[in-house]
Amino acid sequence: MDRLTTNFAGTLFGLHGEPAHERIVVASDAQSGLQAVIAVYSTARGPAFGGCRYWQYASEYEAYHDALRLSQGMAFKNALARLPFGGGKAVILKRPEQMDRTAMFKAFGRLVQSLGGIYLTAEDVGTTADDMRAVQSETPYVSGIPRDNDVYGGNPSPRTAYGVFVGLKAAVQVALGRDTLDGVSVAVQGLGSVGWDLCERLHNAGAELIVADIDAGKTERAKHLFGAQVADTARIAGVNADVFAPCALGGSITEAVAAQCEFKVIAGGANNQLMSLAEGDTLHKRGIFYAPDFLVNAGGIISCVREYQGSADEEAVLAEVAQIGPRVFELAERVKTTGIAPARAAVAWAREQMKAV
Ligand code: NAD
Repeated sequence: MDRLTTNFAGTLFGLHGEPAHERIVVASDAQSGLQAVIAVYSTARGPAFGGCRYWQYASEYEAYHDALRLSQGMAFKNALARLPFGGGKAVILKRPEQMDRTAMFKAFGRLVQSLGGIYLTAEDVGTTADDMRAVQSETPYVSGIPRDNDVYGGNPSPRTAYGVFVGLKAAVQVALGRDTLDGVSVAVQGLGSVGWDLCERLHNAGAELIVADIDAGKTERAKHLFGAQVADTARIAGVNADVFAPCALGGSITEAVAAQCEFKVIAGGANNQLMSLAEGDTLHKRGIFYAPDFLVNAGGIISCVREYQGSADEEAVLAEVAQIGPRVFELAERVKTTGIAPARAAVAWAREQMKAV
């Protein structure tokens, strides 16, 4: 714990001057090699709901910081999606010692169970439905599990991609005044579960794609199937396109990208796209409409929540996810009225919703 307290001094009780997290749990399990951080930002709207990321971090600090930022984003996301849940997130640090994946996710399940229901988990980057099944063997506080007999459930990524598509389309209407994506050029960063599905939808809607992924097999497939142009991963944020859709990991809108990119719209699935709200201000000053990640990528959590509540069917979930479009329009109105950048306006709006309960 010494290293943690030394390295994390100044951020333990607040992230960039924001209100502090309600609870942060740092836990390990020697037998399975589990090392995890669960961050609960807010339970104001209900128990904290947010996925579990399994990732190889460069340092413990990075993992901790990721958990904190992601859990705050989940609180905003759930509030804007009007879900009766607060925001939390888990990260599991990927390490070579973790030989038995099932045993490790079971240990994670026991950790979730030990919190008594203040945190509910699901898939995120690096985790699968099988991992969630292992979690489910130890705790009921989990979602994103495929069910039999027509009971709604499973991998939330297609619903996330649908919400991003709807949000991107609304953002294009706001910024370009076009109600169709036909002929609109979109640069997609990351062709994983969300990015690939989004590309399919964009292609079917007539958009022209420029894609980048560290996995050359995926970009080749996109070239073949969607006629996509392929860009270097280091250059995708600098290409000439109407829209940028970050769908890999966070942090792609750096100070330099915000100051120099030529897009008209940014709307994508990745969490924490902006390095900070200052980058959102720069985009706004430059006339680029940024549709905040936590507004447009809520489709997956909507799916997980309705699965968890056991009351949903596919059609109802898709109809709920489609509400992301009108919310983008409402955000644009707030931006017009207040003059503040969309990212800040969305945070203020989310905080209103968090107080409203
Ligand atoms: P994924 O792991 O399936 O896909 C990520 C893709 O990004 C992979 O193809 C990977 O090769 C690629 N990638 C990694 N680094 C890259 C780089 N530097 N440049 C280009 N490509 C790179 O993950 P996913 O489930 O598709 O999630 C993508 C993002 O969306 C994440 O930030 C995640 O937190 C967020 N998100 C996902 C969901 C969901 O339902 N899956 C919901 C909300 C938010």
